[in-house]
Amino acid sequence: MNTSRSHEQMSAELDGLAEVPSDVLASWVSDRGRCQWEATFDERPEWTGEGDADRGLAAQICAGCLARAECLELELRIGGAQTVGVWGALNEEDRRALHEVWSCRRRTGRDLMPSGEWS
Ligand code: SF4
Repeated sequence: MNTSRSHEQMSAELDGLAEVPSDVLASWVSDRGRCQWEATFDERPEWTGEGDADRGLAAQICAGCLARAECLELELRIGGAQTVGVWGALNEEDRRALHEVWSCRRRTGRDLMPSGEWS
């Protein structure tokens, strides 16, 4: 996933995973996830909590991963608004913003517009 797409688009792309149990998602991520930090860095990278630095780290770590959508869906469920680090090719700042839209979409089937109005 890249952050040039809107949160509404990213949330809609995850709709197909809404009914997949979390333990199945976890198994997919475990089997197919490609956490590149093991191959790219000598030791696990430290997330800075800084938007641009962690955004670049997310792009580097998650490039080519076949389980990005499943990883992102799982972290949105588990980490929710308190999510930290890099998961699903997004840094925590981007994922927290996505979580607000994603959770509204799951609860209501509708997107939350930037103004806070329902679409
Ligand atoms: S999307 Fe990124 S964090 Fe998630 S499994 Fe793939 S490489 Fe690891």
